[in-house]
Amino acid sequence: MNLKNNINKKPYVIAGPCSAESESQVLKIANDIKLVTDVFRAGAWKPRTNPNAFEGYGEIAIKWLQKVQSTTGLKVSTEVATPRHVEICLKAGIDMLWIGARTTVNPFYVQEIAESLRGVDIPVFVKNPIHPEIGLWVGALERLNKVGINNLAAIHRGFYSYNESAFRNEPKWELPIKLRREIKDLPIICDPSHIAGKSSLVEDIAQTAMDINLDGLMIETHFNPKFALSDHKQQVTTKQLHKILNNLVLRDTKLRDEAFKDELLQFRNEIDILDHKIIVQLNNRKKIVETIANFKSKNKLTIFQIERWFEIIKTRSLIAKELELDEKMIQDIFELIHKYSIIKQTEIMR
Ligand code: PEP
Ligand code: MN
Repeated sequence: MNLKNNINKKPYVIAGPCSAESESQVLKIANDIKLVTDVFRAGAWKPRTNPNAFEGYGEIAIKWLQKVQSTTGLKVSTEVATPRHVEICLKAGIDMLWIGARTTVNPFYVQEIAESLRGVDIPVFVKNPIHPEIGLWVGALERLNKVGINNLAAIHRGFYSYNESAFRNEPKWELPIKLRREIKDLPIICDPSHIAGKSSLVEDIAQTAMDINLDGLMIETHFNPKFALSDHKQQVTTKQLHKILNNLVLRDTKLRDEAFKDELLQFRNEIDILDHKIIVQLNNRKKIVETIANFKSKNKLTIFQIERWFEIIKTRSLIAKELELDEKMIQDIFELIHKYSIIKQTEIMR
């Protein structure tokens, strides 16, 4: 991919309300946050699950964003989901566009938007698709790059999950990390607001994003979130935004201090040794699984016995609990181990 990275400050901050609600609302918020914000955000067209919900003020809201531009000097951005939205934004001189999670899921929509941007040099930020499929995320970025958009960034806004969770959208941090490996120079911005779903979690998620070295933050901010027309639970106040950004701890990825580097190396060596032991033990476990498979085969037993599976999950979770280890993590690991154990047994018994 041919990329041009204009993000030179960390964290690069995009902030503003979920939706543009009036000229005075966007101006007030922009004025309150302009000193800590690189780009002002506000949705003009809102993709809402419920058709009776507020769907944004549309074209008129773009005029309010122009007012933010001219009175505060801030760059402004909004979500586009159709070529018509793109046309309106380009005509109005909106500085940056983003593609929402509900659009990234559909290659037809992304391609139409890409066509409407052919030959235009405007930064475009692509949110991850709603469900955890990294190929769609990369595909959308590629479609835009192919029509000549070089100034691209990804926005990590979490993923829908059926499981009960503290988050509105599961962060699944491994996915932005994977994306970083797939497209080397692509800036990745975290949107803690849509991951959190509630304002009290935003600060923590923003810190995690910095800890894994993401490049920026998109934070929904309102002077009076309680009365916001969309996403009211997750918007932070303008005052909170200042506090969150001020409290962020930015760790150095290029370690300057050599002694510190040595210490880190030692820890990494220890981790390498432990990982080696874990793999050896998994191999030992696999050998026993093979013996069991032969035994089951001889005695005409089924491979999968549900009571045994419940017992494994229960006892392993208990051990985790005693060790104050994340029980869900241990359950997930054993689900994987068990899955491969079943595959192995199936191979042997076939
Ligand atoms: C938004 O940024 O307000 C929005 C609708 O986000 P997402 O596409 O991540 O749901
Ligand atoms: Mn929102």
